[in-house]
Amino acid sequence: MLAIENLTKSYNRGALALKDISFCIEPHTFTAILGPSGAGKTTLLRCILQLVKLDGGRVWFQGQDLTNCSAKDLRNSRTQIATVAQQFNLVRRRSALENCLGGRLQELPLWRCFLGVFPISLLNEAMAALERVQLLDVAFQRADRLSGGQQQRVAIARALTQRARLILADEPIASLDPETAHIVLGLLRSLCTQEGLTIVCNLHQVELAKQYSDRILGIQAGELVLDMPTHQLSSSDINRIYRS
Ligand code: ADP
Repeated sequence: MLAIENLTKSYNRGALALKDISFCIEPHTFTAILGPSGAGKTTLLRCILQLVKLDGGRVWFQGQDLTNCSAKDLRNSRTQIATVAQQFNLVRRRSALENCLGGRLQELPLWRCFLGVFPISLLNEAMAALERVQLLDVAFQRADRLSGGQQQRVAIARALTQRARLILADEPIASLDPETAHIVLGLLRSLCTQEGLTIVCNLHQVELAKQYSDRILGIQAGELVLDMPTHQLSSSDINRIYRS
């Protein structure tokens, strides 16, 4: 699904934010990326999406080299990669349904986007996505009237409407209470197990990473210091990620 090869990134020619990172992600897996603040987790996700310029290395997504492809191929690949962010990144004044439809705007003619006239098949798909995350009852409510947990589930429904195969989640539960955090991570886990999506999720909480992921990558000061199946993770491994 995803291959990262010798990825290196610095900001403004300063210290390296990522140092020679390489790993592969198998389809239909849930990978948690653990690491202290400033370790480079967000930068890694931004590099995968080519939102920042890499200093070196390659990113392959489903056999396509995203670091060396046309703008059109990059756009096409990005349609299959959804992001779920800490702050939900919804259009606050739009309804849950409209936010889901936002995941497919790029394939619609401009007039449909301007007039808000969507094909019935797409509306059905967005409604089905909201039903999948158990939010059909708030489909027509404005996003900013929803709770944090509901907003994050709308973001996940948007990823489903987008028909993403890979979800990159950047600390998706950082602003949620513990109970809601379990609901959101449980949902991501079930999309992986039941719908075959691939999840890569930055997390702070070791216990949650152990509970929901198949594999753990540990990043410390821009270096990949750990890469192992979750069931093998020991407390000394965790110390390796969080040592100062
Ligand atoms: P994490 O997500 O693990 O907290 P980040 O990827 O946000 O880590 O940051 C990694 C390093 O890159 C940090 O030292 C941070 O200060 C630096 N950094 C992140 N974004 C920028 C930016 N836009 N400009 C300059 N430095 C940045």
